[in-house]
Amino acid sequence: MPASSLPLHPPHCVVGVIGGGQLGRMIALAARRMGIRTVIWTGGLEAPAVEVADEVIDLPFSDPIALEDFCSRVTVSTIEFENIPRETLEAVARRTGLHPSPSAISICQNREREKKFLRQHQIPHTWFAVIDNAADLAAAMKELDGPGVLKTADFGYDGKGQIKLEGHEDADEIWAAFESPRAVLEAWVPFEKELSVMIARGADGSIVTYDPAENRHRHRILDVSIVPARVSPAVALEAGAIARRVAEALDYRGILGVEFFLKTDGTLLVNEMAPRPHNSGHHTLDACVTSQFAQQLRAVIGLPLGSTRLLSPVVMLNLLGDFWPDETTPPDWLPLFQDGETSLHLYGKRHARGRRKMGHANFLGKTTESALTRAEALKRRWLEQAIPKL
Ligand code: AMP
Repeated sequence: MPASSLPLHPPHCVVGVIGGGQLGRMIALAARRMGIRTVIWTGGLEAPAVEVADEVIDLPFSDPIALEDFCSRVTVSTIEFENIPRETLEAVARRTGLHPSPSAISICQNREREKKFLRQHQIPHTWFAVIDNAADLAAAMKELDGPGVLKTADFGYDGKGQIKLEGHEDADEIWAAFESPRAVLEAWVPFEKELSVMIARGADGSIVTYDPAENRHRHRILDVSIVPARVSPAVALEAGAIARRVAEALDYRGILGVEFFLKTDGTLLVNEMAPRPHNSGHHTLDACVTSQFAQQLRAVIGLPLGSTRLLSPVVMLNLLGDFWPDETTPPDWLPLFQDGETSLHLYGKRHARGRRKMGHANFLGKTTESALTRAEALKRRWLEQAIPKL
């Protein structure tokens, strides 16, 4: 048996995490509880994971010295952020083992590869066409013959990424203004709800799924996740089954977020996949037997997966920078603490900006409705006290 497939045990392993954002922070916090050491490779010392990691490498992801240093310090690696150069992922995988694999990450980090993967595996998804130039766009708009959304093929394109099209626009003008070398045009889906499923696949191929979350967005950023999603048992089962097909087809190891559109006729379409812990899985920190972060560590190290059982209905509220009265003054948390069934998770970011994810709060309740009412009330209150910045 090669050394890399032997199960590792805390405290005899050091997990390397590529990326230093809040997801890395929460992986590092879970690791500390489990007696596992972490090395965070980040692009800046103000990154949220830095203050909780055991060791930090603060150099670009393309730096060969950083690569050598990272690989020499860790037993096994994972990512918390998918926009890492493919060569870096491949090199880390060869040296330390990387879960999920570079090929799974590469599929999920690019919309074109992601959509083609879904099509190849006959996993339900939205109609799409790959766009290289204005003529492609004109042809695709003609074929679609209705509303759509043009998205950059690569993620992380400075938020410039998406534009809704009604279908009658001038393709030359749209393409000239879009400023991306490659894109996909997707059909607009008049969905009833957006759902996501967190799924984990272990070293031995065993799979566990969490209850689907019902996700609402604000300014295109996740606002609240309601768990369990208010959908029929058949829809919940189907979402889990599709997520399982995605994880198996990717030969995935680790935690994976699969996002869906639920159409009014009850059918589900995969929107996108996140090859890491996901914002819509943050409720698992307080409301599930095993959090998505602890699960990730189990899968990456090669330990048996933990139970995903939901202990209580829960609503996760994202705390964006627009809740902050000013850049350095946090909202009044007292009402949150007065609500004895809510927990606050802050990411240690010193400066609030409108859309920055500063933290989240998990509202537990006897029902999702009661949790949602309390979450919405606090959200209104904080937004009223803040200076609008969005
Ligand atoms: P994405 O970055 O692809 O997840 O898109 C962000 C959000 O935009 C989604 O969560 C949806 O609310 C909305 N959206 C994206 N694509 C579509 C689509 N094809 N049809 C309808 N809404 C969409």
